[in-house]
Amino acid sequence: MSTISASSLAAALLRQEVLDLHAYHVPESSGYIKLDAMENPYLVPLELRDAIARIVAAAAINRYPDPNATSLKEKIRAVTGLPQGMEVLLGNGSDELIQLLAMAVHKPDAVMFSVEPSFVMYKMIATFTGMRYVGVPLNADFSLDLPATLAAIKRERPALIFLAYPNNPSGNLFSADAMAQIIRAAPGLVVVDEAYYAFASDSFIPCLASYPNLLVMRTFSKLGMAGLRLGFLAGSPAWIGQLEKLRLPYNVGVLPQLVAEKLLGHHEVLLQQAEQIKRDRAKLYQQLSEIAAVKVYASEANFLLFRVADANRVFNGLKQRGVLIKNLNSGHPMLKDCLRVTIGTPDENVKFIAALREVIIQSA
Ligand SMILES: *Cc1c(COP(=O)(O)O)cnc(C)c1O
Repeated sequence: MSTISASSLAAALLRQEVLDLHAYHVPESSGYIKLDAMENPYLVPLELRDAIARIVAAAAINRYPDPNATSLKEKIRAVTGLPQGMEVLLGNGSDELIQLLAMAVHKPDAVMFSVEPSFVMYKMIATFTGMRYVGVPLNADFSLDLPATLAAIKRERPALIFLAYPNNPSGNLFSADAMAQIIRAAPGLVVVDEAYYAFASDSFIPCLASYPNLLVMRTFSKLGMAGLRLGFLAGSPAWIGQLEKLRLPYNVGVLPQLVAEKLLGHHEVLLQQAEQIKRDRAKLYQQLSEIAAVKVYASEANFLLFRVADANRVFNGLKQRGVLIKNLNSGHPMLKDCLRVTIGTPDENVKFIAALREVIIQSA
């Protein structure tokens, strides 16, 4: 029998950046009012779920999926209003597309660039694909620091830039004009990540034809299909055709293809849910802004970022009362004492606000 332990073998064999990584932590959430992960709190109507059940029952799960997902892509084009001539690449969630983009541009010294604080997966994927990552701080109000960003782009010549629009975790839309200046100044690819498009007032989809280095990435996760794992990149066939070579042939399964296609056939149902969430976001924003010990930030996403005196205390107090939100306190320094709450059902939001008032009164 070998005397070498598996852990010492792993330590010897694995890349140092993998050994140094902390796995993306997903907390245990069963039994909680779950407002931590930007999920849509609503199911679709029962008739639609029944129709999905019939589609699933008849699905050829003994066969590999359609590698081109032709019929699903058609639906996506239609509901997205993709400009003429633009192509679509599907991912197993948009996280997979971030990874695919990193692999595609990764030459020695290639830089991945974003602003901070933003979506943590950009930096994480840069790390585990071995790319150098550069992040430029946002202003204190989470707007783009355009002079600093343009200077850093000039200095670092990034191969790949991610801009979340609206941004996660701050929830704001950056200035479209500043975004356009960044796209024009960038020597490499700029990916506008529109994970929250359904809750936002603007999009770069109509601009796709205006910039040869622009791609728009979207996911259906925040629109009520987080469990299906489906995201897409939209852009010029010159980009999409090349990136297609890196996509594993069967990355979107038979069932996600069929179910997503059916759901997108009822896109208006999902958009009505998004409208409800936007109304409830306005209500929750108002209620949070009335609490003196809370500073809440305006949002065009399905969540609200807010700052308190002691985020760890508030987070734990809410958890004790059965409400799970996201504690951002130990992340980026600009998020000191910040928490992020996903907009839930009206009932969940009432329970969240009541629990928050209790916790804050107790600590006053
Ligand atoms: C949630 C999120 C994603 C990832 O979504 P998938 O579930 O992997 O499709 C991408 N970008 C941003 C900014 C997000 O918040």
